[in-house]
Parts: sequence; C-alpha cells; structure tokens
Amino acid sequence: NLEVNQLHKQFQTKRGLLTVLKNINLYVEEGEFVCAVGASGCGKSTLLRSIAGLDTPTAGNILVDGVRVTGPGCDRGMVFQSYTLYPWMSVMENVAFGLKLQGVPQAKRRQQAAYYLEVVGLSEFAKALPQELSGGMKQRVAIARALASKPKILLMDEPFGALDVQTKESMQQFLLEIWRTTNTTILMITHDVEEAIFLSQRIYVLSARPGTIKQELQIQLPNKSDPQIK
Ligand code: ATP
Ligand code: MG
Repeated sequence: NLEVNQLHKQFQTKRGLLTVLKNINLYVEEGEFVCAVGASGCGKSTLLRSIAGLDTPTAGNILVDGVRVTGPGCDRGMVFQSYTLYPWMSVMENVAFGLKLQGVPQAKRRQQAAYYLEVVGLSEFAKALPQELSGGMKQRVAIARALASKPKILLMDEPFGALDVQTKESMQQFLLEIWRTTNTTILMITHDVEEAIFLSQRIYVLSARPGTIKQELQIQLPNKSDPQIK
C-alpha cells in the first residue's frame, strides 16, 4: 500500500517561495484504484512526481508498504502525462528498459517485456519505433513499461489527456481490464471528474493552489470492485 503523510512542497522561484502542495494526506490500499482530481496547475503532477521520487518533498513522508521512500524505485511504476518513450529504442527495448536498470539478465528481460507487450496487445509492434505508433499505442507501451518492473503501485499522471475521445474511452476500458486481471494498485491523477468516477473506487479532490486534499470531499464509489459493474 501507499501512504502519504503531511506532504508539503515548495519551489524557490524568481518571485519567491511558491507553495504548491500543503498538508497532503492520502493512502491507497493494495489492489485499490484511486483517483485524485484537481484543476490545472493545482499541483497534481508535482504530487505524483513527489510520490515517484522524482521531486523531493519539502516536508512529509511517503511510505510504500510501510517503508519510507526518498528517491525513485522500481516499487513505483510511472506513466507520464505525455508519453515519454525513448524515440531511438524499439518498443520492446522501451518496455525492457527499467528491467535493465534493475539488473535483470537479458533473456529474462526479453521474456518479461514480451509478456507485458502481450498484455497491452502490442506484440506485433515489438520491433517498431515509437514514432510508428499512434498516441494510444504509445501510451499502452508506457503502461507496459511501467508494469514490467512489477511495481507495488502504478502512478499515472493524466495518461489519456492527450488522446481523442474515442481512443480515450477504449484506453479507459483497457486500463480497467488491466487493473482487474493483474490486480495492480493504481493511483491516477486527472482533471477529468467523469474519468475518475468511471475508473476508480475512491476519489480525492484537490483544491486549487496550494493543492490540499479536501478531506470533506473524499468520495467512495460503491461496488466498483464488482467486475459485473462497469
Ligand atoms: P496540469 O493539470 O496543467 O498538468 P498540475 O496540477 O499537474 O497541472 P503542476 O505541474 O504540479 O500542476 O504544477 C503546479 C504548480 O507548481 C504550477 O504553478 C507550476 O508553475 C509550479 N511548478 C511545478 N514545477 C515547478 C518547478 N520545478 N519549479 C517551479 N515551479 C514549479
Ligand atoms: Mg500535470
């Protein structure tokens, strides 16, 4: 599980100290699909980057399975707002990249990357370069890459924000399927309340900057773990 306690984030800017996140407390239980929603600029990406260890919190704690994390690690998989695939690497190499950093031997890397490419339905594109793929496909590769390291939690920053309505809907269905079949724990950030209601079991609402969690607005959606209900 993930626990964020009293997270605080300030940036030093030319115009002085900017408080972006204030007193953020949140948790995601194992197997849960949680969304945090908030307006543009309220600090959503900063929150997720802090949890991923890509930004250092000014104060507060981030715990994964009770262990405090202070930098990036393979226990947290990240899918970014804009697809961040390496353009010079094939789809397969992109998916296997994190495993290489983890020191997984090559044969095993290929096997695992191939497995997750199959999960996202892109086996035929293993040798393709990212530029040959559509936006939705690129985001599927990014999801496969994040899953390949078998993270304890998948962090997603507006993963479908750049997609057209139809692709977005099919990607949402696809993500729900992934969530149900792989039992992944997911924290997703979006500005789209409808998307959050459709996908998640529980929703946190962030106020405008400085982003704080509106505790009174934590929304528990009923029966969302029941696979009968879409
Ligand atoms: P969007 O919905 O547009 O993606 P967001 O909610 O993800 O917005 P953030 O990207 O987290 O918002 O930014 C929140 C605020 O923090 C903004 O005012 C931004 O200018 C500021 N900010 C983010 N990163 C930095 C940084 N490295 N240095 C200074 N200010 C920053
Ligand atoms: Mg953002």
